[in-house]
Amino acid sequence: MDKNTNIQYLKGVGEKRAKILNKLGIFTVGDLLRFYPRDYMDWSKISSIASAPFDESCCIRAIVNHKPRGAKIRKGMTIYKTVVTDGESLMNITIFNNKYAAESLEAGEEYLFYGKVGGNFHRREMTSPLIAPVENGIRIRPIYHQSAGINSKAIEKLVRQAYDIRSDYFTDCIPQSLRDKLCLMEINKAVYELHFPTNEDTVSEARRRLIFEELFIFQLGLMKLKGNRKESTPVSITEDFTEEFTNSLPFTLTGAQMRAVTESIRQMTSNFTMNRLLQGDVGSGKTAVAAALIYTVVKNGYQCAFMAPTEILAQQHYKTCLNFFKNTDIKIALLTGSVTAANKREIKTRLKNGEINLIIGTHALIQNDVEFQNLGLVITDEQHRFGVKHRGALSGKGDRPHTLVMSATPIPRTLALMLYGDLDVSILDELPPGRQPIETYAIDTAKRHRAFNYVKKHLDEGRQGYIVCPLVEEGESDLAAAQEYSENIARGFFSGYTVGLLHGKMKPKDKEEVMSKFVSGETKLLVSTTVIEVGVDVPNSVIMVIENAERFGLSQLHQLRGRIGRGKYKSTCILITDAQNESAQRRMKVMTSTTDGFKIADEDLKMRGPGDFFGSRQHGLPEMKIAMLTDTALLNEANRFARELIIDDPDFIKEENRNLKTAISELFSGEYVMN
Ligand code: ADP
Ligand code: MG
Repeated sequence: MDKNTNIQYLKGVGEKRAKILNKLGIFTVGDLLRFYPRDYMDWSKISSIASAPFDESCCIRAIVNHKPRGAKIRKGMTIYKTVVTDGESLMNITIFNNKYAAESLEAGEEYLFYGKVGGNFHRREMTSPLIAPVENGIRIRPIYHQSAGINSKAIEKLVRQAYDIRSDYFTDCIPQSLRDKLCLMEINKAVYELHFPTNEDTVSEARRRLIFEELFIFQLGLMKLKGNRKESTPVSITEDFTEEFTNSLPFTLTGAQMRAVTESIRQMTSNFTMNRLLQGDVGSGKTAVAAALIYTVVKNGYQCAFMAPTEILAQQHYKTCLNFFKNTDIKIALLTGSVTAANKREIKTRLKNGEINLIIGTHALIQNDVEFQNLGLVITDEQHRFGVKHRGALSGKGDRPHTLVMSATPIPRTLALMLYGDLDVSILDELPPGRQPIETYAIDTAKRHRAFNYVKKHLDEGRQGYIVCPLVEEGESDLAAAQEYSENIARGFFSGYTVGLLHGKMKPKDKEEVMSKFVSGETKLLVSTTVIEVGVDVPNSVIMVIENAERFGLSQLHQLRGRIGRGKYKSTCILITDAQNESAQRRMKVMTSTTDGFKIADEDLKMRGPGDFFGSRQHGLPEMKIAMLTDTALLNEANRFARELIIDDPDFIKEENRNLKTAISELFSGEYVMN
């Protein structure tokens, strides 16, 4: 048996159980061993009954007084009760419906009972405890993520079984010299310790080793990518037309915008392909930067492609660009799913023969039959929606074109530089002048009426507003269902005002209609789900109410709020929630106290796991099993040693670096590395 052995070779794993394990991402014995516990139960610290903490899990070692007695309390429900003692005090044990557990207890025998102790000072009690015999039981035990059909204990048993066969499934990919230098535990020992810790210290040493490994491999992979991408390109940008463009603008670019443009153009004129991330908070003016680059690239004789994740956004960029370029001879076309077949054909022909200079669109742009004559620059907006694969697909339509990826998800600067190791980064950390700060309040539903009155007041002054609800259709009863909700308020509280409804399940054409009515000002109040989240720009809308605000993460709330405060008027955001839990309260507090996207991102990162924040789904980056990207100290260490290693042995030729290569392609699972 080795790490690639199918889990079905383990005893107790048949086809059915294998399917369940597959759902957890476990296909091989190696996967199983890399399926780390999510937490631990400490059965190694024994409490006495008298000193057991209230309502906190603990382990008690006690002798059973009498065999548990069962009593049927209703159909299908039997409870078993007994009393145990640790020699000092007594404790009641209640077991629900678990005949097997109850009958395994013998009078006069000693067991370990793990659970929360309740009751009162006269007689304490434990309900549905986990029970284990004393021998071998006094230790730290793993708790695994479980799924329907397999519980944590069953997974623990399988891991044990694998370790009964051998203990050295993995080859260490970290060079011995580096392990010595950093005092890193050997790989097999580390993995074993994570499942079956000797004590708290060893488990944290094991974690440190595995986190370092992940970050180290991750960094090396990104550095390799960046290295590979320093390729020369036939796209020859020789002249900078930025000044000509900015002279035609109704406003002056901010310092940050100008810097981003200059950095990009310098790179594009270097004969090496540009791969750049443009990171800027909502409203920081990324589109104008994109337009400046487009202008120069087109004037140098190349075509540009500009891809947005939604129809609405593509529409908006199209309009914005038409406006930016209205006094030029730049030919612009829009290609989305809702363009008629005849039009599509025509656009594709004109694109292929070079008549169109700038194509703006959605995923429709990456279809096979979209061809360019000479694609020079690819821009993707809100790239975290696309993932790396799509980004690559569009670039593939030209010969090593330059790329600019725009993201409105602020990521703490140091992290961005490391995370996007394969990209250069420009940051817009300055908002266009004249913006009024957005005021944000969090209220409960009892005050909803007052909030609505406040909205009305703004609408009466000629402004527009949003009400955001978390869901599309009714379903979960406690959620404000957008559809019914908008109908209700349109008929009720806001009768006499034009209310629009926008949600993700609408046909693109209908969405577009709703949106254009809002943009034109015909619709005063827009009830929407999160589809307005990205990029929608209506400077006249100054008020936003977010219902069930607790349902949204911090970054999402920030994105939503970014739809207002985009013009010269003072804007207000009202978060409505009745949620009392700590996480919700903390998010509300952050939102009401700052509008700084980078601060919010920091908080978001702290509150959520890295899986959520940087998960592969969001950013097209590999998923990490164990590392938190908040482990900045380790991240820095990994970064430093990865740099040293890449300089010393860029192709991993040295014997001790050989295993790194495999580890990298495993972490980046093929697809990413190929792009
Ligand atoms: P982002 O995409 O970064 O969220 P946009 O590109 O949509 O931001 O720009 C937001 C608004 O700010 C737009 O209405 C745009 O015309 C305007 N804008 C951009 N740059 C400037 C600037 N330098 N001065 C004034 N207004 C600007
Ligand atoms: Mg935008």
